[in-house]
Amino acid sequence: MRELWQCQTPSCGYIYDPDRGDKKGKIPKGTKFEDLPEDWKCPVCGASKKNFKKL
Ligand SMILES: [Zn+2]
Repeated sequence: MRELWQCQTPSCGYIYDPDRGDKKGKIPKGTKFEDLPEDWKCPVCGASKKNFKKL
């Protein structure tokens, strides 16, 4: 099942969708949130993975 994770910083709300990956961060489609590198950052606000919550 596809798991979406949302950035929790104020006024961001970016949602990481594994089906889309993150072009800006050079993350290929199909990469699970758990498998993102620890230094991956929100492409919108630059927050770290710790700021994301599963939807
Ligand atoms: Zn963000």
